[in-house]
Amino acid sequence: VLILAIESSCDETAAAVVRNGREVKSNIISSQIALHTLYGGVVPEIASRKHIEKINQVIESALLEAEVTLEDIDAVGVTYGPGLVGALLVGVAEAKAIAYGAKKPLIGVHHIEGHIAANFIEHPKLEPPFFCLVVSGGHTHLVRVKDYGQFDIIGRTRDDAAGEAFDKVARAIGLGYPGGPKIDKVAKEGNPKAITFPNAHVADAPYDFSFSGVKSAVLNYINGCQMKEEEYSQADVAASFQKAVTDALVERAMHAVEEYHVKQFAIAGGVASNSALRLAMKEACDKKGVEFYYPSPVYCTDNAAMIGAAAYYEYINGTRHGWDLNAVPNLKLGER
Ligand code: ATP
Ligand code: MG
Ligand code: FE
Repeated sequence: VLILAIESSCDETAAAVVRNGREVKSNIISSQIALHTLYGGVVPEIASRKHIEKINQVIESALLEAEVTLEDIDAVGVTYGPGLVGALLVGVAEAKAIAYGAKKPLIGVHHIEGHIAANFIEHPKLEPPFFCLVVSGGHTHLVRVKDYGQFDIIGRTRDDAAGEAFDKVARAIGLGYPGGPKIDKVAKEGNPKAITFPNAHVADAPYDFSFSGVKSAVLNYINGCQMKEEEYSQADVAASFQKAVTDALVERAMHAVEEYHVKQFAIAGGVASNSALRLAMKEACDKKGVEFYYPSPVYCTDNAAMIGAAAYYEYINGTRHGWDLNAVPNLKLGER
């Protein structure tokens, strides 16, 4: 089964051709990062306009590189939520037009289901049930993947998402946007034990996260240094912040491993490409004899291959969407 997949939920215009959910024939990503860097973050109006400009050539390249035509495709998969409504609409409208014109089924995909499915691409042996920690720009979910397309959210953030915290802290310490990769790099030169930033717990919700406290603690720390006219070490702040976030994530993950007798654990989303998180999760999983999975960086951040992987399992399970498919900015995981 060949799926043409389209992703435009945020600031990446992406298309891919994926075979049987696991074999990536092509994966084209046109990133708008350079454009949004000028404004310190994603500007929704600009994102939508850029998607419109790029989407046709991105899809054309994906088909060309996979050496297939629309005739060969079995279905068109597209992210229809969650995300920026104007950005999502570009992909959804395009997917509907292509599917209708080529007389192929249309499959709407949940963006986070895509992030989770990114793990299938390079791990042919990984099959549900498993646990997945989704850490992206807008989400921090501890998910129990019961079966393909079947999810229980065990824990979630009460405020900032992990990636959002990385981006905000990076901006505060002068690293710019997008902050995650920059903190990751600078932290390698710093001491993660130099400053103790808090690991906040949510009362009576052992699997929930809160990252606004650690973000505020970083802001207070650098404001304090500036008041005293002291220099602070960007690298130490980055490393210590990264450790606080990583500790909070690994702690909840391992708590779930114990309570749910987890045998396989995966991570997904942009922050899953963080080197400290990967290392800490790998060590913690090894210690407990749990198989640990993570996607290559290109499949962690937004891409359409992961949407093709998720769309395949939706296709197999019989999910089909009508020509009235709409963008759903706050789509819930598992909703169809
Ligand atoms: P969502 O998937 O929740 O809708 P999104 O699509 O914007 O949000 P992703 O593309 O999954 O998010 O990930 C982007 C986020 O990942 C950004 O916040 C970015 O800073 C973060 N990120 C990327 N690489 C790293 C890294 N190496 N370390 C930490 N964070 C990272
Ligand atoms: Mg992005
Ligand atoms: Fe994403």
